[in-house]
Formats: sequence, C-alpha cells, structure tokens
Amino acid sequence: MRAPASNASNASAGALGKCTMATFIVLLGPPGAGKGTQAKRISGILGLPHVSTGDLFRENLADHTALGVEAGEYINKGQLVPDSLTIAMVEERLTRSDCAPGALLDGFPRTLAQAEAFDEMLEKSFNSKVFCVPCIEVDPDLLVERLSDRLVCRNGHVFHLRFSPPKKAGVCDLCGEPLYQREDDKAETVTKRIEVYNVQTAPLIQYYEDRRLLRKINGDQDIEAVTQDILSVLNEANAVNLTGTKIAQKGNGIE
Ligand code: ADP
Ligand code: ADP
Repeated sequence: MRAPASNASNASAGALGKCTMATFIVLLGPPGAGKGTQAKRISGILGLPHVSTGDLFRENLADHTALGVEAGEYINKGQLVPDSLTIAMVEERLTRSDCAPGALLDGFPRTLAQAEAFDEMLEKSFNSKVFCVPCIEVDPDLLVERLSDRLVCRNGHVFHLRFSPPKKAGVCDLCGEPLYQREDDKAETVTKRIEVYNVQTAPLIQYYEDRRLLRKINGDQDIEAVTQDILSVLNEANAVNLTGTKIAQKGNGIE
C-alpha cells in the first residue's frame, strides 16, 4: 500500500502551490492509437509523470525480474498480463515521490477489474479520483499499419518508419540507441492485441462515459493536431486549475 492520503496531498500541494488533489489522467485507445506518443508530449507540458504499464513490463523483462519473466509469457502472445500482477505493479509505481502530483496513465487500466481497482486505489491512497479520460480513436485499418512499422529503442522512445521517421535510419534521435521492432508488433500478434482490446478494454469506454470522464479524440490527424485536441479537452476539464500548470494551446515548444 502506498503512503497515506494526507502525505500525497501535502506533497503535491507543496510541489504545485495551490494544488489540493493529485491529478490522474487516463489515456485510452487501441494499440497503435498513439497513446505513448501523446503521453510523452503531454506529460512534459503538464509536469505529470508518464506511467506506461507496457514500458514498466518491458523494463522488468529486460532486467529479467520474476515479474518480467511472468509478464513476458503473456505479452509475447498478445494477451493481457493478469490483473493482480498489473494492479500491484501500478500501485507500487504510484507510491514513488514523482507521482505525488498525480500521473498520466498510458495503457492502464485495460480491464474493468483494473478500472475498479484503480478508482479504489486513488480514493484510499490519494484521496483522489480519475480526472479525465481522453480516448484516442483511429480507423482500425490504420492501426495495423502503425504497429507493423513502429520502431522503438530500449529507452521506450517511439518512431514510425514513414509517419515519424528517425533522422538517421535505425538510430534513436533522442538517445542514440539502436531502433528495433517490438516482438509483439509482428503481424500475427498485432491482430490478436487488437482483438483483445475490443473484447477486454473497449468496455472501459462505457465505464468512463457513465462517469462523464470520457473525451473522444480524433487520432487520424497528425501528431501535433492530436496533442492540441488532447490539451483542449484537458483544459475544458479544468486540468489547468488542478495542476496549477498553464497549458499553452499554441507554441508549447514541443516538436
Ligand atoms: P500506442 O502507445 O497507442 O500503442 P504509439 O504512440 O506507440 O501508440 O504509436 C504507434 C505508432 O504510430 C508509432 O510508430 C508512432 O510513431 C505512430 N503514430 C503515433 N501517432 C501518430 C499519428 N497521429 N499519425 C501517424 N502515426 C502516428
Ligand atoms: P501498446 O502501446 O501497443 O498499446 P503496450 O506497450 O501498452 O502496448 O502494452 C504491451 C503489452 O503489455 C500488452 O499487449 C499487454 O500484454 C501488456 N500490458 C500493458 N498494459 C497492460 C495492462 N494494463 N493490463 C494487462 N496487460 C498489459
């Protein structure tokens, strides 16, 4: 269990001046929608850490931890890692001090059980709740194309062979590490992951609609336009007031 709610609230109030409640934003959308790409841009603007369950599992896989070994069996088949493992991992991640002001969640929750556990975790440990759920929608035919030509480096930076190519072929612009295709981005696993999304994760759209938190985002636009649309819905949801961060709609300095 994380530190008591009062600690989290005090820490975030200290770090963010008038902030009284940690801010948790959930980026929803199918594999390949652009969640990771957008989360990296937006987390810098909002000053909230980007918490990606896919990245956390891959770090564990690379470090050969027990969690990584177990999760790898599911990830490589395109299946979801069991809820109990995933929820415990997220809970541990959110106890770290950088999450005191909140976090931008990418790839979590992915099942109804995870969404319910997350709500409970936020209430008990942060005296908070999910603030807004931008849901990135992309034509299903485009998803396969995006995933099949996605390139990543070991530090989780993301490129695309055609839509977002690195300056130098095969090398990460940001850290100089080699770029490669993720094992689960091979054609047969991609199809399975999209099916899994439709069955296990898509019900979260209704879950968050019922709570009036869902905001649909057109993901079939260029990367910068999608960022601006997400910032708009966060502004509408009053994210600015909660985080104490002024979100600039234009000229925000990101590439
Ligand atoms: P997700 O995290 O939702 O699986 P990513 O952010 O990794 O998606 O994006 C999947 C692939 O599509 C990456 O190769 C990325 O560079 C590319 N991509 C992301 N957003 C866009 C966009 N708006 N237009 C074209 N390609 C995009
Ligand atoms: P993508 O960016 O394409 O949506 P991710 O990097 O988020 O993929 O996730 C990769 C894999 O990690 C998933 O296919 C799944 O096996 C596992 N995973 C990530 N997040 C979760 C989660 N919340 N619950 C269960 N499994 C997850």
